[in-house]
Amino acid sequence: MCATPDEDDIGWGIRFFAGTYLDAYLWRSGRIRGYTVARWKRPRHVADPTELNEQEAAGFWRELLIVGDILKQHYEPLKLNIALFGNVLPHLHAHVIPRTLDDGGQDEQQVAADTLALRALLAAGETESDVLAQEGTDW
Ligand SMILES: [Zn+2]
Repeated sequence: MCATPDEDDIGWGIRFFAGTYLDAYLWRSGRIRGYTVARWKRPRHVADPTELNEQEAAGFWRELLIVGDILKQHYEPLKLNIALFGNVLPHLHAHVIPRTLDDGGQDEQQVAADTLALRALLAAGETESDVLAQEGTDW
């Protein structure tokens, strides 16, 4: 995953959030609508969060919360699951999964439409956790 290109469409997913510490993609093949994978994007390889320094850890989690918040606004899930694995891909990434009773289901058109809606919410600064409003922080 270190070699993931800096492009919006990377095949398995479409990027809707490009942060300083992570990029978040709607997972195209996931059957659960809104299934998101957020991957660590800094230049050096990191396998798990214990390898992050304090600033990186704060930045990673802040951006992960921005992603989670925007997913909650758009999908209105019953519960937002956040999981960090790495058995298959030992590069720091999080699965962010808005769960609903029927989990929605999705196809290519739905993923594309959701991507545009999430980008619009982010561009409008429509985040409830005021992490985007904290300009001037030095992390
Ligand atoms: Zn890596």
